[in-house]
Amino acid sequence: MNPQQIIDAEKKYLVQTYARPPFVITRGEGVHVYDADGKKYLDMAAGIAVNALGYNDPELTKAIQNAATGLLHTSNLFYTESQVKLAQALVEKSFADKVFFGNTGTEVIEGAMKFARKYHVERGDMQRKNFVAFRGSFHGRTMGALAATDSEKYQGPFRPLMPGVSFANFNDLDSVRAAVNAETAAVIIEPVQGEGGVYPASDEFLRSLRYLCDERGALLIFDEIQCGVGRTGKLWGYEWPGVKPDMMTVAKPLAGGLPIGALLVTDAVASSLHVGEHGTTFGGGPMITSVALSVFNRVSNPNFLAHVNETGQYLMERLSEINSPHIKQVRGRGLMIGVELDIEAAKIRAAGYAHGLLLIQAREKVVRFVPPLILQKTHVDELVEKFGKILTEVG
Ligand SMILES: *Cc1c(COP(=O)(O)O)cnc(C)c1O
Repeated sequence: MNPQQIIDAEKKYLVQTYARPPFVITRGEGVHVYDADGKKYLDMAAGIAVNALGYNDPELTKAIQNAATGLLHTSNLFYTESQVKLAQALVEKSFADKVFFGNTGTEVIEGAMKFARKYHVERGDMQRKNFVAFRGSFHGRTMGALAATDSEKYQGPFRPLMPGVSFANFNDLDSVRAAVNAETAAVIIEPVQGEGGVYPASDEFLRSLRYLCDERGALLIFDEIQCGVGRTGKLWGYEWPGVKPDMMTVAKPLAGGLPIGALLVTDAVASSLHVGEHGTTFGGGPMITSVALSVFNRVSNPNFLAHVNETGQYLMERLSEINSPHIKQVRGRGLMIGVELDIEAAKIRAAGYAHGLLLIQAREKVVRFVPPLILQKTHVDELVEKFGKILTEVG
């Protein structure tokens, strides 16, 4: 099929829930992708913070090839070595004692909500069914996760959603104090909000949140689906404030581009779940977990994390130096940076394609940079030069 045929067939055969640009990506190499006409794009989106190791990484390819000749699937009715090894690696490099695997971010958010309720049921505290989430949050699109996602556009047509979720203001402890009570099962927060506009929670706020949850008997869930696994320059976003959650959701980059979700929990939470109380057919399958182990071992290497930190700082500096009246704020952590504009980010995104840049946005006016974590300073220079030009052009 030629590109136009692919685009036409997409319109004919797929549910039109996505607005895609008018070219077809056919391959990728490092931090670049190429379209069907051979045009090269510097990828600042990484499949929405997924492709941590970029494209066509030889070691990742090898890991997938090895995994493909091994067991693909057994279901969770049986033991497999790679599932156990990945869980061990995640536990040894995090606050967690145990792991539950799913297939996507949303799925492990649902799991976290169920585990939170079960934790309190197990303690005879039958009234703790509710959740406190935050303004600007994104936790997914299923009925529970969506209920905790602060977006009228996403929620509106699909009500009734799971009841019992209230929203507090991000970085505003008083509003959390007013929301958390004896019916709260858990507070759920992204240490750095992604979809909502790239807003880092302050270290102080996360520390106070931990204290408040302990004081009031609610669990604390960190959604690190976007900010976890090296994205912020530390392995986990919670390492910046030095605050440990009771549960943490992980997904996007964990298998380097293949689908996986992981719910990391303390023993206190894990011991609330018994045989048959939660499950999945595919989650944590042998093929995907062996690939994820290879990705995780590389990304969690201190040298790799130091690279993310350094490149992230450089990107932040260089973006902050751009002299444009349209830039209102540059914020973020590591290689998760948002540039808030006074103009529509969609226009910048569209202009980016013409300049050979893949950009994504977060809400209407924020351009979100979540590139492959292997990005180099020379790529940052290229990006900043083009981004500056685009701002002049579009403005
Ligand atoms: C992407 C995302 C999700 C949903 O993950 P899916 O894999 O798309 O189901 C949930 N929370 C955050 C913070 C995300 O960025």
